[in-house]
Amino acid sequence: MLLYNSLTRKRDEFIPREAGKVSMYTCGPTVYHYAHIGNLRTYTMEDVLEKYLRYIGNDVTRVMNITDVGHLSSDGDTGEDKMLKGARRENKTVLEIAKYYTDAFFADCEKLHIKLPDVIEPATNCIPEFIKMIETLLEKGYAYEAGGNIYFDTSKLDKYYVFNDFNEEDLAVGVRDSVEEDGNKKNKADFVLWFTKSKFEDQELKWDSPWGIGYPGWHIECSCIASKHLGEYLDIHCGGIDNAFPHHTNEIAQSEATYGHEWCNWWFHVHHLNTNSGKMSKSKGEFLTVSLLEEKGYDPLVYRFFCMQSHYRKNLVFSWENLDNAKIAYEKLVSRIADLNTAEGDIDEKAFAEGKKRFTDALDNDLNTSLAVTALYDVFKLKTNDKTKYELIKSFETVLDLGLLEAAEKINERKAKEAAEENAGVDPELLAYINEKIEARKAAKKAKNFAEADAIRDELLSKGITLLDTREGTKFTIA
Ligand SMILES: [Zn+2]
Repeated sequence: MLLYNSLTRKRDEFIPREAGKVSMYTCGPTVYHYAHIGNLRTYTMEDVLEKYLRYIGNDVTRVMNITDVGHLSSDGDTGEDKMLKGARRENKTVLEIAKYYTDAFFADCEKLHIKLPDVIEPATNCIPEFIKMIETLLEKGYAYEAGGNIYFDTSKLDKYYVFNDFNEEDLAVGVRDSVEEDGNKKNKADFVLWFTKSKFEDQELKWDSPWGIGYPGWHIECSCIASKHLGEYLDIHCGGIDNAFPHHTNEIAQSEATYGHEWCNWWFHVHHLNTNSGKMSKSKGEFLTVSLLEEKGYDPLVYRFFCMQSHYRKNLVFSWENLDNAKIAYEKLVSRIADLNTAEGDIDEKAFAEGKKRFTDALDNDLNTSLAVTALYDVFKLKTNDKTKYELIKSFETVLDLGLLEAAEKINERKAKEAAEENAGVDPELLAYINEKIEARKAAKKAKNFAEADAIRDELLSKGITLLDTREGTKFTIA
């Protein structure tokens, strides 16, 4: 599989350290509010990546953190703790907020068919691990104490700005633009590993440490939680592109300084979801959540389908109009699947392999989900039986996970129920005869044997039974 790596700025063959086994880490949410659908785009694309890595035969172990302490409102070390802000907003404790929004995040994931990682660890579970890593960094001379806080010394690294997608000037803007300059930092890019001198007196969660009572910085949690469950080496690390700097840059700095070797081979970054007015965020404009989509009558899986239609490395523009288009396309696709006659025929291996190859070619090409969706449409064009088509779609759905088969099943159940109600007064034997003829006519039409189809219609007509072809299928009236 060719996959773009933000570290090398190239698409390369993705090869895990151990053949067939992938260790994968995902930055989890900061649970101070609902996730907006831009955050969820990232988790959706990561989910497809994980499912595809499994599809092509890998055993994936995936770990995610939950940030429930220490993430300040600026990704640099300024502002106040987002969790505390959330707690104050809702007049609850930080732990209550964390629990509520962690559950809300899981519920959103379920609705979007995002599989939860194998291990999910809240930051507040790992304070001893954070302290241990910070102690190692101090011992090795990569960290220093100043003004009561512990900082990482970025000048000790040969290379700090590792994601050279951006130039250093641009990256440094984030640091320069900090609202408050932290006079304790030796270098502008240095970042806090452990806070003791809190700018806010009412920080709720504090722990004892060798440097005094305090709490961890945000970046240290991902380095520690990743190594706690996946060891000193990581095959792939995922996150939103906005986390590449400073968060992922700092994770690399801490981990490589601690272990003395390269840490993670591959960085997978999902680009932004924008609205017409710019990048989506919680603070500006309409706060778009999964619940809001549902309130407006959209199935969350339509949003998943919308995400699949564009490449993860391109910014995607969200508008209600775009979502409406996705909804129409999704419903059409479902109804075509519902029309497949899966009762007859065996799987045609040759056609199956041909259809599957189009799908894997698309995803092997830097996870091109929009081409994978095209491959799904192409299934209908294959010269093969419906059984094979259905099985192909079923196979693709283990990766795309759009709920297509379940939705098609629902349509067929509804149709069957309606037909049963409509035909309630008809003699069962006569009904079986008519249905058999309708199916035979459908098959004849499909085989382009129109003379045969007309003959069946005429045969029924001679018995006083008139067929009507409707959008919901063929119906009949009895004279
Ligand atoms: Zn992280």
